[in-house]
Amino acid sequence: MPEGPEIRLAADKIEAALHDRELTEVFFAFDHLKPYSRSLTGSKVLAVETRGKALLIHTNCGLSIYSHNQLYGRWMTRKAGSMPKTNRQLRLALHNHDYSAYLFSASDISVLETGQQAQHPFLARLGPDIMSAPVADVRRQIKDPRFTRRCLGQLLLDQGYLAGMGNYLRSESLHVAGIHPDRRPTDCGVEELDRLASSILKLARQSYRQRGITNDLVRARALKAEGLRRSEYRHWVFAREGRPCYRCCEKVIKTRVASRRLYYCPRCQA
Ligand SMILES: [Zn+2]
Repeated sequence: MPEGPEIRLAADKIEAALHDRELTEVFFAFDHLKPYSRSLTGSKVLAVETRGKALLIHTNCGLSIYSHNQLYGRWMTRKAGSMPKTNRQLRLALHNHDYSAYLFSASDISVLETGQQAQHPFLARLGPDIMSAPVADVRRQIKDPRFTRRCLGQLLLDQGYLAGMGNYLRSESLHVAGIHPDRRPTDCGVEELDRLASSILKLARQSYRQRGITNDLVRARALKAEGLRRSEYRHWVFAREGRPCYRCCEKVIKTRVASRRLYYCPRCQA
């Protein structure tokens, strides 16, 4: 499943096609949404917002389109009227005079009154968003008493803890902060937790700007120049089982936490 940085990159493409343009045609596949087509047609798209792994398209008619891609949803944009070649089921199409944006396969789509997002069951339970929240909010959330007794390896996939986190960012941020995945916030010092908050934000935003690279950028560039493949220089520890840790040369360990693979260095993250 794509993580915060990949969702934001996808949103950028949709925003480039729709922002500040008038919708000339709106198609919903689901019957209960069809009545909204008329209200949305003729409205202008004001912004494309990401909230964790959900997307909100805000318009100037007082309505916002909410979608969550889950595992299979996929957005595609094309020149106006040109249809992507795919066997996927079309669920939503937004057209303007220049471009068309299509959402395939997703089933979690709704139309909300702008400003009523707080009542949406998924949006209401999201923690601070790692792509947009200020560091102070993330620091506070990481120490929030509601979460202190669960291990960080689990918490960092909980969208109610931090929205937009995902599997590679979990391994990478724990490694950069030097924290073992079995530790709970209550086991960590304030400085460690603040370091974790900073690592999460730094890595998420770097990954967004550098198309998924979370490794130290100087090292990544050097490894690339040596001829290594992207998968080999992309991360500090993620997907590097048995390879030497870049900091201490100890072998990276692969384990499973919350049913997803997790990588860490047993020495740097003792
Ligand atoms: Zn190490």
